[in-house]
Amino acid sequence: MLLQSRCAGCDRPGVPLCRTCRFALVQPSRRPPGATGPADHRVISAVPFTGRARDVVLGFKYRNRRQLAGHLAGLLVNRLLAAGIRPGVDVDVVTWAPTSPHRRRQRGFDQAQLVAEQVARQLGLRSRRLLERDGAQPAQTGRGRVDRLQGPTFRIRPDVAGRRVLVIDDVVTTGATLRSAAECLRGAGAIDVVSAAVASTPGGLASRRQRWGEVVTGPWPVDGTGAGVRQSA
Ligand SMILES: [Zn+2]
Repeated sequence: MLLQSRCAGCDRPGVPLCRTCRFALVQPSRRPPGATGPADHRVISAVPFTGRARDVVLGFKYRNRRQLAGHLAGLLVNRLLAAGIRPGVDVDVVTWAPTSPHRRRQRGFDQAQLVAEQVARQLGLRSRRLLERDGAQPAQTGRGRVDRLQGPTFRIRPDVAGRRVLVIDDVVTTGATLRSAAECLRGAGAIDVVSAAVASTPGGLASRRQRWGEVVTGPWPVDGTGAGVRQSA
């Protein structure tokens, strides 16, 4: 019996990602990249975590649509190149913010790792596991907001010193995970760290960018309201 493929965004039978959902993902990135900050404090993301794009990312993350990794990675690579990131110059290795071992066992894969591997391939770079979740910390989802602002702690793998690292996460909400990962990597001697995510909550990061010193590069206005990004799903 053949398992019929269904769209990750709308569950329509046929293909892993239907034309409507594919179009909804690329539509926002027709706008030029937004403001950029110092390379060590920004998060570059491909799509807003709203509307149809959010459905697709959730399908990838929770409904085991791992075949979408290459497509989502392609969108992120476009954003990275549009933001002026030069592979081999600004970044020389790609890694990811790993999910907790518990979540990884539940899902059978680490979605951030899948995207990072595809991003590396498309940029002509190597992907390497440079970070490990420290201890038995719970995953970010399901924790309280205050807790989540602290971010998880990571252990670092050797061979980070002197590298320019691109660190990938799937969805960025508070930015705490990527910030924590970047601090770890710098602490271990990385020359530069570029943080990127497939999707970001438009209001989430913007309202705290003063606190974290982050600037979100995205195809939508970063004014905390998310205006202009909501799509009718
Ligand atoms: Zn669809």
